[in-house]
Amino acid sequence: MSSALSAPPALVPHTSPAAREGAPAQQLDAVLLSHAHLDHCGYLPALRRQGFKGPIYATSATSDLCEVLLRDSAHLQEEDARRANRDGTSRHDKAQPLYSVREAEATLKQFAPLPRDGRLRLGQTDVRFTPAGHLLGASSIHVSHSGRSLLFSGDVGRVGDLLMPTPQVPPAADVVMIESTYGNRLHAPEDAQARLAQILRNTLKRGGSVLLPSFAVGRAQALLLVLQRLRNAGELPLDVPIWLDSPMAEQATELTIKHAKLLRISASEARSLTDRVHYVTKQAQSLKLAASLAAPRAKPAVVISASGMATGGRVLNYLETLAPQPQHHIAFPGFQAGGTRGARIVAGEREVKIRGRWVPVNAEISHLDGFSGHADADGLLQWLRALPRPPEQVYVVHGEPAAADALRSRIQDELGWAVRVPQHGETVTW
Ligand SMILES: [Zn+2]
Repeated sequence: MSSALSAPPALVPHTSPAAREGAPAQQLDAVLLSHAHLDHCGYLPALRRQGFKGPIYATSATSDLCEVLLRDSAHLQEEDARRANRDGTSRHDKAQPLYSVREAEATLKQFAPLPRDGRLRLGQTDVRFTPAGHLLGASSIHVSHSGRSLLFSGDVGRVGDLLMPTPQVPPAADVVMIESTYGNRLHAPEDAQARLAQILRNTLKRGGSVLLPSFAVGRAQALLLVLQRLRNAGELPLDVPIWLDSPMAEQATELTIKHAKLLRISASEARSLTDRVHYVTKQAQSLKLAASLAAPRAKPAVVISASGMATGGRVLNYLETLAPQPQHHIAFPGFQAGGTRGARIVAGEREVKIRGRWVPVNAEISHLDGFSGHADADGLLQWLRALPRPPEQVYVVHGEPAAADALRSRIQDELGWAVRVPQHGETVTW
């Protein structure tokens, strides 16, 4: 079950036909949203289009981030549809965006504030959000009704995350749904700061620039934190500029500072994230900077740009100019999904296609593990072990099939709990 939404099905009474058939949008009473990543909130405007007009409950940080992410997502979809219609590449008569900016804005109006303690009562149902340590505002969601309870993990953060505190232990539940993004992997024990320091040292010495393709929300702010710490430690010289080329990352950084009390760093360190950081606002400026960094005798710089898997966005401007030159270093700080341009570069391909043109990859490449915002398989088991009592049933969701199955077998073998990976679209009554 790779649900686009983070809402557990708990608000559909288990006696209703909707629960058996998969609830039509207009029959949903409310949505409980765990966090702002697009694979969790990105379907909400489409759900609205299908008739869902109820409230969407989320923490205030999640609501703020969704405002940035949903607008951007709708805008990109409108652009894609326009391009497909112009170029005649649509498989449909007329390409339509999944939703428009106007629909995204109408959806944002459905967001309902969550009390500060994260507790809600909806009819006979008690709801509790607990911080999941994964992203600003990210939560696990506990729902109880008539003496029965369900816990939805949302995405679980890692212990020792740069920005987020350790996930809080949620209340016990009869049924637990747990994510499995890293269900078959362990993070290498890596000191993110030391690794980046070494990359900077080596690259700057040979006159190259460091490109960090990054997700705009979460990862970009963790990178800024480490870069500022390296500057303070004298490991990143003051005359090497830091460029943040992603308007969305810029907005997300401002929201991170606004919600600094949710972080594990101090408010003053949060405010320093943007110290002497240069923003690139316009695409023309981005292209110009990308060209200038590849010019003969160019001064080295550090550039953070999206998208994180190099599937699109302004990071392509820099890949085009920097990848062919061996003095530069391209370090991917995030998970690279199979089939993406980022995954191919990290796997060592010496040539990648960008905007229809083959670009040689001669720059040094690395994959940084220390910036992941997800618990690894050990972390997920640790999260389960910390629950006040074992659940009656665990469902493993939100992961590639191999990852979900690997986590399932570890839960069975190491915890001895009833666990299963549900079928896509399956309805469970409890
Ligand atoms: Zn997430």
